[in-house]
Amino acid sequence: MPTEPKSLQEAIVYFSNPDNCIDYLALRRWPNGVICPTCGSDKVKFNPARRLWQCSSHHSKRQFSVKVGTIMEDSPIGLDKWLMAMWMVTNCKNGVSSYEIARDAKVTQKSAWFMLHRIRVAMQDEFFGSKLSGEVEVDETFIGGKARNMHLSERKRRITATGTKDKTAVMGILERGGKVRAAVVPSRRKTALQEQVRKHVTAGSALLQRCPAFV
Ligand SMILES: [Zn+2]
Repeated sequence: MPTEPKSLQEAIVYFSNPDNCIDYLALRRWPNGVICPTCGSDKVKFNPARRLWQCSSHHSKRQFSVKVGTIMEDSPIGLDKWLMAMWMVTNCKNGVSSYEIARDAKVTQKSAWFMLHRIRVAMQDEFFGSKLSGEVEVDETFIGGKARNMHLSERKRRITATGTKDKTAVMGILERGGKVRAAVVPSRRKTALQEQVRKHVTAGSALLQRCPAFV
């Protein structure tokens, strides 16, 4: 396994070296060797002076940096700062704010916010990239304040109807013996729930229905 900085201080030192940044990313992105992001060929040559690879096939965008084809491609923010931000997002257990990224990666708060947003979207994509399949169980429930735990005045203010008002509908999708997904749905209406199923479940899976919307 390639080297991984173990502390914030180590990360700052490690990512301050541009060659470390390229190695760090290239090893993770192309564990079986660098390939051209345009044509997929492995006949590529690295130019250390320019820190670019060149594909041996003749096509446009023959030369490419490690940023090409990633969430960093169109951004002028340096690789060192991106990797620092990514390292922080994945290693700080209690979450990380754009202020902390701005301070430690030495970028403006606006840049930090932009990076954080892109990193989060990318991580979500990876998570939601695959769909559930096989026997899939669907259920929905409501979470929210329990009336009996509320102060009387609060209860009067908030509980204006019985049942589901003021609560959030959460839909759970479970793959038998596997992954689980939970999503907040705008309503319990059939269309809202079915939309989530289409998004998360492979067509043709056996849907085990527990809620009325699917009967
Ligand atoms: Zn190529």
